[in-house]
Amino acid sequence: MAKLLYERPLITPLNTGMTNKFGTRTEYRPMTHIDHVAVKDLLQEFGSPLFVFSERQIRNNYQSAKRAFETRYPKVQFAWSYKTNYLDAICNIFHQKGSWGEVVSGFEYKKALKNGVPGDKILFNGPDKTNEDLKMAIENNSPIHIDHLDELYRLTEMARELNKKPRVAIRVNMDTGIYPMWDRFGFNYENGQAWDAVNKILSNDVLDLIGLHCHIGTFMLAPSAYGIAASKMSELALSIKRQHGKVIEYIDMGGGFASKNTLKGAYLIGADTVPEISEFAEAITSAILNAGFDKDELPYLYLETGRALVDDAGFLLGSVISNKRLSDGRRATILDFGVNNLFTSFWYDHKVSPAQEFGMHTENSVLYGPLCMNIDVVRENVSLPPLNAGDQLVVHHVGAYNFTQSMQFITLRPAVVLIDMKDETHLVRVREDNDSVQRYEQVPEYLKPFKL
Ligand SMILES: *Cc1c(COP(=O)(O)O)cnc(C)c1O
Repeated sequence: MAKLLYERPLITPLNTGMTNKFGTRTEYRPMTHIDHVAVKDLLQEFGSPLFVFSERQIRNNYQSAKRAFETRYPKVQFAWSYKTNYLDAICNIFHQKGSWGEVVSGFEYKKALKNGVPGDKILFNGPDKTNEDLKMAIENNSPIHIDHLDELYRLTEMARELNKKPRVAIRVNMDTGIYPMWDRFGFNYENGQAWDAVNKILSNDVLDLIGLHCHIGTFMLAPSAYGIAASKMSELALSIKRQHGKVIEYIDMGGGFASKNTLKGAYLIGADTVPEISEFAEAITSAILNAGFDKDELPYLYLETGRALVDDAGFLLGSVISNKRLSDGRRATILDFGVNNLFTSFWYDHKVSPAQEFGMHTENSVLYGPLCMNIDVVRENVSLPPLNAGDQLVVHHVGAYNFTQSMQFITLRPAVVLIDMKDETHLVRVREDNDSVQRYEQVPEYLKPFKL
């Protein structure tokens, strides 16, 4: 008789869903549906893994952000940040709601144009605008947000050549009390670079300085920082009026408001601690309103809010491939999606919910993706009910950046589905196939034949 395989017995405590010693909420509830559509039906129809977006959530988010600003300030304009999520269907929801486009490359610029955004409603940011990009933006009359002096000189030269007067703003960076300071983009306020750029632009009649732009950081948790930034931007606009007699048409406060995700190492979950958009709105609008503008010269307030409007509208659905015990006894669950689709898992502890009913016991687990790479960890330590192979789960708050930063690595990018206001599903991006990757490859003739 063959000797039976010995497996070391292991005793691990199971929790019963109580609050832990830090007092954080327990969130062991299954998420069986997204906007009334069953997760299992979605995965069955469109395959696993799968990105799913809720149009209802996007529209609600936009509506409440717009209300937060428009009830406090008379002239507000949102511009959708393409890099946050440039799936055309998602961009178009924002455009239907009245949002302009905000782009940071020629690629994104062309995408916005193709989506039908008029050129004069595309705000062009970013440090890397080629001459071809600038020409396109000048001809379409887009506000060009100048990042550095070389761009300013190039633009001046091109404007003369084309005999056009581009509409420009400068990007300003500043000390808002948040460190490390974001000073790599644009011109610094405190050391006079911004003022110098303004003087350079206004010393001749080649460029039309219509606005001032800033984007003070990313996943910002302090509304007060925006208050400081808005004061400095207003001060700059007022100085321009005073010294040059030039009225600045708009102040663009960029994006960066935190979404409700939980940063790694955070003591409490994001849903409980992240400020509401209205708090950012209050800080920004009071600063501008109290800065001392004449009533008829009050600048437009532009906002390029990205993540805070879309993060909680996106879900990543997937399935359990297998479970195993690590050498120290910890439970490890292997999923069919990893950091290739969930880039933001490097900084967030994403909330993960099982998609089916389960018992009351939970166990600390590590969630791995399917990639053959040690860094492919979705959650390092999450308390979840035991999941079996084939069980499904939902990752929350993945609407910002995960799709635009997803990688084709080892496997292909998943499909993306939108659930509309009537709870109907639309495939907005098909699952990639080998051809989507190999279309761009070329094998030299001499490498084609081989015999094994
Ligand atoms: C990335 C970016 C945004 C959007 O930032 P979120 O953090 O997604 O709100 C807005 N403006 C500029 C210039 C950006 O680079």
